[in-house]
Amino acid sequence: MYRERTPDTSFPNNSTCPLCDSPSYSESEPRTGVLLFVCSACGKFLFTEEANDLLIYLKRDGGIDRYKLSHAMRRAAERAFGKRDNSLFPCYSSDDLQKILDSPDAPVQEKLNLLLSFLGSLSEYPGQCTEFDSSNDYTVLGSVDVHRVRSTAAAR
Ligand SMILES: [Zn+2]
Repeated sequence: MYRERTPDTSFPNNSTCPLCDSPSYSESEPRTGVLLFVCSACGKFLFTEEANDLLIYLKRDGGIDRYKLSHAMRRAAERAFGKRDNSLFPCYSSDDLQKILDSPDAPVQEKLNLLLSFLGSLSEYPGQCTEFDSSNDYTVLGSVDVHRVRSTAAAR
């Protein structure tokens, strides 16, 4: 689970994540239209209204490629976690999202390295046991949600 989404955080569920459809926290800046989301699986990220329109379109179109966006947002949020630098949480436009969608999937070896790196970030010292929360942390690896895979397979 994204570490800013612990049960006692100031990010209660009031919305649905536009990337993975999980319960999430969101707020909008009325002056700029920028949307903030904090999701257990996708981390913390900012979008323009235009980018949100693209996400609504992607969801209506089946949304199978949204896992790439979940992966990119979670990786960025994990890199920025614990740092007090707002530039580490950029506001994504629809062009930014399209570039991520057009990028190829990472090879398996790179995904395994991401897993090791993520588990290393959770442990305080070498050899410490840590738990992998597959229901929320599958995005770290760039994996598609298991439930979506099953529904896609059943539809064929
Ligand atoms: Zn999400």
